[in-house]
Amino acid sequence: PSAMREVQLEVPKVLWSDIGGQEEIKLKLCQAVEWPLKHPEAFIRMGINPPRGILMYGPPGCSKTMIAKALATESELFSKWVGESERAVREVFRKARAAAPSIVFFDEIDALAVERGRVLAQLLTEIDGVEQLKDVTIVAATNRPDIIDKALIRPGRLDRILYVPLPDSCTRHQILTIHLKNMPVSDDVSVDQLVEQTEKYSGAEVSAVCHEAAMFALQEDINNQTIEQRHFDYALSVVTPRISTEMIQFYE
Ligand code: ATP
Repeated sequence: PSAMREVQLEVPKVLWSDIGGQEEIKLKLCQAVEWPLKHPEAFIRMGINPPRGILMYGPPGCSKTMIAKALATESELFSKWVGESERAVREVFRKARAAAPSIVFFDEIDALAVERGRVLAQLLTEIDGVEQLKDVTIVAATNRPDIIDKALIRPGRLDRILYVPLPDSCTRHQILTIHLKNMPVSDDVSVDQLVEQTEKYSGAEVSAVCHEAAMFALQEDINNQTIEQRHFDYALSVVTPRISTEMIQFYE
């Protein structure tokens, strides 16, 4: 609803342990965001500038939003999630400067950055307010890097760009383990096999497979006690990967 868009939201709690795999991304993000804020003297010592902002991009459903939320939850820094109005942008940066070191998040920044409108102009103004923006790091996510206004990714703005790929087998293994943790899975189900069966699936799709398998078991018999491999097989036939090889090439 439009009223929601006016406000800045407190960041919902997500722990690093809620996110399976994607270790490299987690590490790079910590280095890019936490190090400069927690150890600014180390950057001075090395003679480098910390990134002003980080843009995560990649196919939908691959944990960009979760990663941003976990960063906010676990960094113990003041952090705000930004809505879509000009006023919300101005207000959040005011608070972030006052509370620095701090982090400001923009999810689906393409929605905001494509229009060349007043919200984008306001955002660029805030990012360029270099002096005052010391110790405020911007983290943004998109699955449409192609439509982002190039002005946003100039040096000194969102100048660190991180690709969040489809989960590899190791990450899928962890995602499955997390999602199946509280589910009564039958002995005939092997996580390793599910890892193989979910090649090219996004994290969101792997999660949907687990959910569908459980729903199918209940649909079959509401008194079913366990989820069996055939329930997963059915779920895998219903939830198919949406991200094609062409789309991956587009991102990469
Ligand atoms: P979009 O670009 O569509 O916003 P996203 O990359 O931001 O997608 P998320 O919203 O972070 O993706 O993930 C969607 C859902 O998929 C999560 O709420 C979670 O249930 C599941 N999921 C995705 N990746 C993981 C992961 N690595 N570990 C556990 N669950 C995951």
